[in-house]
Amino acid sequence: MKVYLDNNATTIVDPQVKAVMDPFFVEKYGNPNSLHAYAGETHPHLKTAMEKIYAGLHAPKEDLVVITSCATESNNWVLKSIYFEYILTGRKNHIIVSEVEHPSVMATAKFIESMGCRVTYLPINHEGLIEAQSVRDNITSKTALVSIMWANNETGAIFPVEEIGQICEDNRVLFHTDAVQAIGKLPVDVQSFPVDYLTFSAHKFHGPKGVGGLYIKKGRELMPLLHGGSQMGGYRSGTLNVAGIVGMGKAMEQAIDSLDYEMEDVKEMRDAFEDELLKIKDTFVVTPRENRTPNTTLISFRGIEGESMLWDMNRAGIGASTGSACASEDLEANSVMEAIGADDDLAHTAIRFSLSRYTTQEEMDYTLDVVKKAVKRLRAISSSYAYAPEGHESGLSAH
Ligand code: PLP
Repeated sequence: MKVYLDNNATTIVDPQVKAVMDPFFVEKYGNPNSLHAYAGETHPHLKTAMEKIYAGLHAPKEDLVVITSCATESNNWVLKSIYFEYILTGRKNHIIVSEVEHPSVMATAKFIESMGCRVTYLPINHEGLIEAQSVRDNITSKTALVSIMWANNETGAIFPVEEIGQICEDNRVLFHTDAVQAIGKLPVDVQSFPVDYLTFSAHKFHGPKGVGGLYIKKGRELMPLLHGGSQMGGYRSGTLNVAGIVGMGKAMEQAIDSLDYEMEDVKEMRDAFEDELLKIKDTFVVTPRENRTPNTTLISFRGIEGESMLWDMNRAGIGASTGSACASEDLEANSVMEAIGADDDLAHTAIRFSLSRYTTQEEMDYTLDVVKKAVKRLRAISSSYAYAPEGHESGLSAH
C-alpha cells in the first residue's frame, strides 16, 4: 500500500484542477498581455480565476492580490520591500518575526539583519505557541513590520493572528502573515481582522506547484521585487503563468468548499490516529489539538531517531517527514522541537504526519500498524532508549 502523509510539504493536484489547467498549454497558449485574439482566449479565464482567489480570501475588490511564483517569493517580497522602504531610508529600524517562521521568512529576516535592520525573533512557549502579548512587549516606535505565520508547518500550531493584527494596528505597525498552512484548513477572511499582507501558495491546497500569491491591503502597496513589464499592475513583472493561475483559482474554490470536511472529517481521522499513537509509552505531542490545524500531528517517540522511523515507514510505502534537514554528516534536530526546549534526544525523534482530504481511514489504519511495529523494532535496538531512566523527564506533556 502507498500512503502519502506529507501534505504540509505539498499536496496532490486535484484532478479537476488539472483538467481546468490542461487547455492552457497547447490550445490556449497566448500571452495574455498581447494584443491579438490569442491573448483574448486567456483573459476571461484569468479574470474568473482571480475572482475565485479574491473570494477565497474574502478580499475586497479595492485590495490587491498579486500572483507570484511561490510563497517563498511572496515572503521575500514583503520583507525586502519593507527593508528598502522603511529601514534603508531610516524611517524605521526594526522588524519582529517568530523564531519558527518558514526558512523563506527566517533567511530573509537574517539577510536584512545583516544589512543593518534590528530583528526580534519571538520565542514560542512550551506548547509551541506564540503569545500575542510578546508582540506588544517588543514593538517600539521604530518597528516597521511584524511577520508571524498563521499556522506552523511542523507542529500545525495556530498562532493568534487576529490578536497580533489588532496589536499591530493599534501601534501603527504593518502586519504580514504567512498563511500557507492555513488556506484550506482554517477559515481565512482578510476582512475579519487587521492584516496588511498575507502569503499563500497553490501547491499546499491541491493546486499546482510554482504559483502563489500575496494579498496586499489597499494603501499598503509594496515596492516591486521583480522589475520589468507591467504585468500584475507593475507590482510583479513576468509573463503570467496562465495555467497556474487558472489552476490556483479552481484549487482555492475547492479549498473553501471542502473546508468543513477538512475541519471535521480529516480532524477526526487525525485525532483517532494520534490517540492510538499516544497509547505507546514515552510518546509526546507538543501542541494541544484545539490550537492546531486539523491535519497535522508532530509526534516524538523517545529513543527513536526520526530518520530511522522514516526509513521503516518508507519501506512500507508511507511518506511522512521529520521536519529536520539532513546536513552532510550531521542529522539536524527538528527546529521547532528545539525552539520548544525539548532535550536534544527528543528533538531528534519527531515525526510529522500531515493528512489531506485525500487521506482514507484504511490508509491511517495501515500506517498505525506500520508505526507500532517500527516503534517496537527500533526501540529494541536503540541504545538511547535502553539507557533512558524510567519516567525520564522530557519537559513535554502528552496531549
Ligand atoms: N511558508 C510555509 C509556512 C510553508 O510551509 C512553505 C512550504 O513548505 C512555504 C512558506 C514555502 O512555500 P513555496 O513552496 O510555495 O515557496
